[in-house]
Amino acid sequence: MKYVTFYFHRELREYFGLDYPLEYVLQRRASIKDIIEALGVPHTEVGEILTDEGEAGFDHIPCPGEKILVRPVEAPVDVKSPTRLRPESWPETRFIADVNVGKLAMLLRMLGQDTLWSNSYQDRDVAFLAAQERRIVLSRDRGLLKRKEIMHGRLVRASNPDDQLREVARIYGLDIFCRFSRCLRCNQVLEPATKSEIIHRLKPRTRKYFDYFEICPGCERIYWRGSHWEKMCSRIH
Ligand SMILES: [Zn+2]
Repeated sequence: MKYVTFYFHRELREYFGLDYPLEYVLQRRASIKDIIEALGVPHTEVGEILTDEGEAGFDHIPCPGEKILVRPVEAPVDVKSPTRLRPESWPETRFIADVNVGKLAMLLRMLGQDTLWSNSYQDRDVAFLAAQERRIVLSRDRGLLKRKEIMHGRLVRASNPDDQLREVARIYGLDIFCRFSRCLRCNQVLEPATKSEIIHRLKPRTRKYFDYFEICPGCERIYWRGSHWEKMCSRIH
């Protein structure tokens, strides 16, 4: 017999439509990572691989007759804690969002989460920045998450941005709390601005009713806690 038997955890099985157990015919020498991805599951979704010999890494080469248990990434993911599949410890939780989850990126910025996003990103840009800056990739695109440069990522299940935020917050253990410490347009950390220095850029009503302002050092957009701010906070709540 030239096949291995996979036992995918229910969560993966249901989402990716896999049989249980699943018999996979070995046609060539391939790593477990390549086989799992050929079955449609991006490596970023896998939290643990157990073989007859114990925990395995992504480079494990399955032998005929082997039985393999595949478990999903479990919440809350802590990128600082190394695992067998992801032995590198990252300094902090940071994100990069694919073009298909732009509204989710804005919501994460409202929480103060460092989240890169641009509507001009190509897959290769996302993968490059994720590796370069050690960022978790958020995407609805399975193909992107199969890229080898990406270590941490989430195939976002929900289609509605508010539900996506709930999903990502649960997986990465984020506090859902409005911080407004980052520019919603460019992700930079806001800095306090002196009213007298920016007063010429304010509309008369804003000038009259508000005294505390922040400015983005990147795009120079001015932020204050007006009705738009209250609306965003109530959405987050
Ligand atoms: Zn900005």
